[in-house]
Amino acid sequence: MINIKNLKKNFGKNEVLKGIDLEVKTGEVVVIIGPSGSGKSTFLRCLNLLEQPTEGSVEFEGKNLLEKNADINELRQKMGMVFQSFNLFPHKTVVENLTISPLKVKGQNPEEAKKNALELLNKVGLSDKSDSFPVQLSGGQQQRVAIARALAMGPDVMLFDEPTSALDPEMVGEVLAVMKNLAEGGMTMVVVTHEMGFAREVADRVIFMDDGMIVEQGKPKDVFSNPQHARTQDFLSKVL
Ligand code: ADP
Ligand code: MG
Repeated sequence: MINIKNLKKNFGKNEVLKGIDLEVKTGEVVVIIGPSGSGKSTFLRCLNLLEQPTEGSVEFEGKNLLEKNADINELRQKMGMVFQSFNLFPHKTVVENLTISPLKVKGQNPEEAKKNALELLNKVGLSDKSDSFPVQLSGGQQQRVAIARALAMGPDVMLFDEPTSALDPEMVGEVLAVMKNLAEGGMTMVVVTHEMGFAREVADRVIFMDDGMIVEQGKPKDVFSNPQHARTQDFLSKVL
């Protein structure tokens, strides 16, 4: 589904991504781990062109995203993204947060958009909150709404950038449960997280990034139990 070759990103003289090669298959769950500042967020942002890569190629569903005439709007519909901060529209209700883009961008009719939104809220366990405002929800509930909102666009892949890092500890589990559910339903996912339990349990593949490069990757049990590189060993010894 996604084929990344020799992806590089510089900010001025700072080379943040130093040549990343990665293929993500349909239905695969790829979890990216690595120290702060290693380029994980920049990498995700290059995938949906929130950042313009400096060099390399990104193919998504057979289309080269870096071509001049690539359709960025279509791309953004097909790649859902969930960030650490939920960024819900504060003056809109939960259900309106879910319907606004399908109505405006996809031109869905209001009944269809609402029906779809209510189904998604049910899926993330928030059926009873459809008419609440974001401020009335806990952080974990808001993040679940943010996931449902991304799903409302009908994406083919979901990108998550530390979706539980801003949450109080007691709310992390409910968000990870929604993500696990999504993975089990066959969604293609690329997840940056420090939740090693989630990585171990849900990932098909774990990627360890350091200093703008993929240092090591493999099945979770191999990467966690038998890391090959000193940098991976060092990182895991600090987080496990
Ligand atoms: P991670 O998500 O792994 O913590 P980031 O991708 O956020 O890492 O950052 C990697 C490096 O890129 C850091 O040194 C950061 O300061 C730099 N960086 C990220 N975004 C920008 C930006 N918009 N402008 C300049 N430097 C940036
Ligand atoms: Mg980051």
